Amino acid sequence: MEEYICPHCQNPIYDDDALLCHFCGESLHRPGKGFLSNIKYSEHRVIWFFLLFFALLGFILVRIF
Ligand SMILES: [Zn+2]
Repeated sequence: MEEYICPHCQNPIYDDDALLCHFCGESLHRPGKGFLSNIKYSEHRVIWFFLLFFALLGFILVRIF
């Protein structure tokens, strides 16, 4: 657990996964943590993209043969 100070109301947030401030409801702009979760999020998107791509590829191959 790491203390994070809300840039809007200056209250400390102790929830590492919180994206919104508990006090004022504004989104937290986390430079370090946010970057890491962005990587995780984009990796998740890439996996879905590849699944969709191969599904489409399979569909095209089935139609050709
Ligand atoms: Zn706040």
